[in-house]
Amino acid sequence: MHPALLFKLATTFLLIGLISTSAVLAQELVIVHTNDFHGHIQETQKYAGAARITAEVKAIRENNEAVIFLDAGDAISGTPVSSMFEGEPIFEVMNTMGYDVGLLGNHEFDHGYRKIERFRDIAEHPLLTANAYGPDGELLGDAPYVILDIAGIAVGIIGLVTEDSPKLFSPVGNEGLTFAAPAERLDVLIPEIRPQVDVLILLAHIGHEEELALAEQFQALDLIIGGHSHTLVEQPIQVGRTAVAQAHQYGTHLGLIRVNRAPGKPAGPLQIRGKLLKAKDLAEPDPRVENLVALFESKVEDEVDVQISETTRAYSKIELQPILESILAQAAGTELGFYNRRGIRDELSVGPVTARMLWNIEPFGNTLVRMRIKGKDLIVLLAQEPELHHSVPDIDPDRQYHLATNSYIASHAELAFGDDIETVDTGLLIRDILIQHIKANGL
Ligand SMILES: [Zn+2]
Repeated sequence: MHPALLFKLATTFLLIGLISTSAVLAQELVIVHTNDFHGHIQETQKYAGAARITAEVKAIRENNEAVIFLDAGDAISGTPVSSMFEGEPIFEVMNTMGYDVGLLGNHEFDHGYRKIERFRDIAEHPLLTANAYGPDGELLGDAPYVILDIAGIAVGIIGLVTEDSPKLFSPVGNEGLTFAAPAERLDVLIPEIRPQVDVLILLAHIGHEEELALAEQFQALDLIIGGHSHTLVEQPIQVGRTAVAQAHQYGTHLGLIRVNRAPGKPAGPLQIRGKLLKAKDLAEPDPRVENLVALFESKVEDEVDVQISETTRAYSKIELQPILESILAQAAGTELGFYNRRGIRDELSVGPVTARMLWNIEPFGNTLVRMRIKGKDLIVLLAQEPELHHSVPDIDPDRQYHLATNSYIASHAELAFGDDIETVDTGLLIRDILIQHIKANGL
């Protein structure tokens, strides 16, 4: 057998239940990782795109024997190609990128949990979750964990998503799901897996602060590859014996970690060194992946690569928030608009404004909702924002307000406030409203 083929088999073979108690790593384990890719398969000024990431991973595989390529969730939702085809092209492209293991993030639920079965069908790599359960109590991923034999190194990988997921995705299509606390699952899984592996990794879509806390609590983990908070962690942060990494977002960076047994310390912690490779420093695009990306992008180009306006200044997400709120209030004819900051998924740079940019800002396909809400409930609603809300005057708790918002906020508000609020979904796509407004009026 050709050595390269043998190597390929060795790295892709899922070895469940492997017993290995070797105290010394046979060699260096190289981990390449992404998180919160959010559909950014296309190369841009800021984002590497799938083809360059693939080429870089290939080069790393050529120069190292034991390599594993991981994704820590939220692969979809953030670009037109993802939104128009409900995430499917992203998993098609990921297949050509050569991922070994992926994870269900909260955004993998954006098209309802039944769509996850489709993602699992498409993806050639396992999509892990150890704590997301369907209505019948079944785990929604391919497995809670895998144990891989990577060129003779037994690597255990557990997958966990934030327990807050139900607050983060639309309740529509996600009825009856439950999410266990990550710590609760680690209590059960670590004693089971640790004796079988040389390296134990938690693939986490939980957020950097909580991932640091889990590292402190679960020192039997060697490494946490994180996500969800889109944190740029330049080098893995060592918390006792456990290192915590995360590679920002959207393919701005590719995480690269080298795991070794410290010389002379067979029983000591593993030596974990890592860094983030910047998008602009990655290898030249892999032609096969580039072609596939171009094929998918060609299906959306006519609709989205159209200039609608231009701007002489850049707008951050925070600066876009009051603009979006005012556009929504105008469109709905209400006194106030409210747009959650976390629902604004991109910023605007100086220059032409295209429809694609508005798709990137609002990739979810939310609709405009008119809401009647009591002042006291509105105060609660706004208090969930990361910072004090800017564009809202003093709210009288006893007064009724008429608010324009998006269907995501409205569906969560209905759950929280019940009959206290009244909502009317206009069915109008917010993205279309933004595009039309900016086309006619500029920013
Ligand atoms: Zn994300």
